Amino acid sequence: MSSSELSALSPADLTTFVATQRTAYDALKAKELKLDLTRGKPSAAQLDLSEELLSLPNGHTSAAGTDVRNYGGLEGLPELREIFAELLGVEPSQIIAGGNASLTLMSNTLINALLHGAVDSERPWSQEETIKFVCPVPGYDRHFALLESLGIEMVTVPMTDDGPDPVATAALVKDDPSIKGMWIVPTYANPAGSVCTQEVAAALTSMPTAAPDFKIFWDNAYALHHLTAAETKSADVLSLATAAGNPHRPVIFASTSKITFAGSGVAFLAGSVDTIAWYLKHLSKSSIGPDKVNHLRHVQFFKDAAGVRAHMDKHRAIIAPKFAEVQRALTDGLEGRGIAEWTKPAGGYFVSLDVLDGTASRVVELAKGVGVALTPAGASFPHGDDPRDRNIRLAPTMPPLSEVAAAMEVVVTCVLLAAGEKLTSGL
Ligand code: PMP
Repeated sequence: MSSSELSALSPADLTTFVATQRTAYDALKAKELKLDLTRGKPSAAQLDLSEELLSLPNGHTSAAGTDVRNYGGLEGLPELREIFAELLGVEPSQIIAGGNASLTLMSNTLINALLHGAVDSERPWSQEETIKFVCPVPGYDRHFALLESLGIEMVTVPMTDDGPDPVATAALVKDDPSIKGMWIVPTYANPAGSVCTQEVAAALTSMPTAAPDFKIFWDNAYALHHLTAAETKSADVLSLATAAGNPHRPVIFASTSKITFAGSGVAFLAGSVDTIAWYLKHLSKSSIGPDKVNHLRHVQFFKDAAGVRAHMDKHRAIIAPKFAEVQRALTDGLEGRGIAEWTKPAGGYFVSLDVLDGTASRVVELAKGVGVALTPAGASFPHGDDPRDRNIRLAPTMPPLSEVAAAMEVVVTCVLLAAGEKLTSGL
């Protein structure tokens, strides 16, 4: 135990410590801050990187000579699908390009499985008495909200540094046919930042499941969003699943929301050729074709996969200093105190901060009291319920660097104060 650990302080020193943090907190209040670290949105400077999109496309003709202004081409523009097939490690025949939100593709996939059954289901999922999904935690709050809205129950497994705990997952799914699927954010997970290794992906794609139509919702929202020069490659989930005899198990999602415009990008769904055919069959009832003008504009903007990678380097130059500031503040303020642990992601949009058990809600409340909005405590857990009340998701991309620094000073003070309050409460 290091001497700077709070739990090593005598009761008198602890009381003094709390008083010092309270004074620091009151000084922050006087600054009348109005800062926001809540959501993983790109900053205006990042959106500006894609400004040229607003003056594209030049012309309106696809490589095959079709007029992109017209109906048709439900699977999306082939030349755009080719670029993202390469980037996501699938064949062009295994990917479709849609509208601007991958979340909509996830929702549609679930709803189609409920109403019609998945590509390999015996009957619609809605005919089962109960349906459950495995949710690695901490995880993405909108995944959980979507399941909740559809009446799908959630069972949790721990998110490890290498992806969802494969042993815990395998134990859950092997005897319970009501577990129809699981979420994975494989690369730079939201919020843990962890990367699902090829070994974990192999375990999850090959594990025996009581449900014959078990699905892995492989949400690769941050596949290309590196914070370092090491461009971590995502596990090759489709090849692994195919080799394991479960080719229809993965459904892959991605989008350019954090590559071009969050409000006007392109979303992708990939999977086995049969999965694609299944998705398009249902989509054809609700759409005559996607926004191919936007597809063409993206093709002309990027030109090829290398163009996308080069573009992501520009994002990195803008956001890496913000993540570095988060690390600096947490290290300077909290390291060695025995009250907090946090992730050091090599990509993605978040830092996951675990504070002293039972104090996360208090930290968020304290931060709000001095004008800093944090994601609600518990948001990274199903139903917003963090059983240990310790996890806080930090999202530093949107505010300018100076605001990230100011907000992190608040976070550190609030973590220290809340821990001090908790440790003195039993004195
Ligand atoms: N998946 C994850 C893991 C995300 O973090 C986000 C955005 N916060 C999304 C999906 C949303 O993607 P889209 O904008 O394509 O709907």
